Amino acid sequence: MLKIYNSMTQKKEFFQPLHPGKINIYVCGPTVYDFCHIGNGRTYAVFDVIIRYLRWRGYEVTYVRNITDIDDKIIKRANDNKEAFSTVVERFTAAMHEDFSKLGLLSPDHEPRVTDYLPSIIRLIEKLINNNYAYVANNGDVYYDVRQFKNYGCLSHHLIDQLESGARVEISDIKRDPLDFVLWKIAKPGEPTWASPWGAGRPGWHIECSAMSMDLLGERFDLHGGGKDLIFPHHENEIAQSEAATQEKFVNIWMHAGYLQIEKEKMSKSLGNFFTIRDLLQNNKPEVLRYFMISSHYRSPVNYSNQALLQAHKALERFYNALRGLPAAEAPFESDFEKRFIAAMDDDFNTPVAFALLFELTHEIQRLRDKEIALAAQYGALLRLLGSVFGILQDDPDCFLQSREDTFVIETLISARNQARVDKNWAEADRIRAQLAAMSIEVEDTVSGTKWKQS
Ligand code: AMP
Ligand code: ZN
Repeated sequence: MLKIYNSMTQKKEFFQPLHPGKINIYVCGPTVYDFCHIGNGRTYAVFDVIIRYLRWRGYEVTYVRNITDIDDKIIKRANDNKEAFSTVVERFTAAMHEDFSKLGLLSPDHEPRVTDYLPSIIRLIEKLINNNYAYVANNGDVYYDVRQFKNYGCLSHHLIDQLESGARVEISDIKRDPLDFVLWKIAKPGEPTWASPWGAGRPGWHIECSAMSMDLLGERFDLHGGGKDLIFPHHENEIAQSEAATQEKFVNIWMHAGYLQIEKEKMSKSLGNFFTIRDLLQNNKPEVLRYFMISSHYRSPVNYSNQALLQAHKALERFYNALRGLPAAEAPFESDFEKRFIAAMDDDFNTPVAFALLFELTHEIQRLRDKEIALAAQYGALLRLLGSVFGILQDDPDCFLQSREDTFVIETLISARNQARVDKNWAEADRIRAQLAAMSIEVEDTVSGTKWKQS
């Protein structure tokens, strides 16, 4: 039976959907002010695998992932670029769709945008004011009154008093309590605004997810996810808002993905230590990025490096080498491999154990291919089937392996050209550039190194 780690109880729990056979899941979506980086990609790839697995096990899953299309960062980007707010939103929403589709991420069943949910958001804020969980401050903003919600801190396991003494909490004479958070912001000049009973303005970040999730999935639903950074304050505040409005439990299980790190630090826009998905897709197959993002356990951190991507590529090569040249066959019915795969994934989606099994299966295919090709082919079909649960191994093995050889040749040529440039051997550097051009490879020298793409 499926067990899932609940960030709230900090334990693995047996999972029972609220409605038999059906699972409703909400994953907080990106803020569309820039290209998504591979850290964002990791969280969405993790939930992609979880949803693929649940569907493969026969559940009818409704997957909601929102788009945050109102936010300070979007407004700042629009002002910096002297562009309309909506132009920024549309450009980065289209880019996000393109990147996610290249990574093979399933489209959510619903992808609500905040700007389409203003009436629900306003109704929810009104309810919170009527229930005495929210107040209009003297600057016109509406705030949530955290002291009114007895369970505040239930998800992050922070006590309000500890939080208050923390240095991160700013002191304000507008809020009743420093931890109170904004539900409605009164407009400042030059900002996009929407009408509300409290004046023209825009919603705070947290309220959008309470409103959109409850509208689409009901006041109580099964699973709610995001990256670990969302536990506090975002998800803590979602609980405070939703449960204060309904007086009902909001979510059954809270799931959080571990960080994608670079040199042991969380990859993030604010630290500037990020690689965008689209940049990495220039030189890496989507499947390689997927394997890298999902092969460690979803709650563990994963470290980004060129070496890690190379290892991901090598792992996929091992799988495709095993699949190469096998005749078509059906996967064996309820094999021991499949049962062990299910047991691993039922144990809080333990992908490292599941991948170890796929390697065992690969080994078995190689062992059998010379003497029992029919059985090797059946195991090959099983490898592809189980690979599909991870969104990998659906390519033609020859295509995958061929392109790797090309990449190797290109990278060797680029290294040789860089060496020639270090040696000031410009004739040799130019000769190699021309050789790459003849292979339709365009080279660009940037401050962070030489990049290449197919022209
Ligand atoms: P944002 O657009 O910043 O709200 O982020 C979108 C999603 O990416 C959220 O679920 C974040 O928790 C997640 N996220 C951001 N940075 C990382 C990272 N370095 N590793 C894993 N997930 C991340
Ligand atoms: Zn959210």
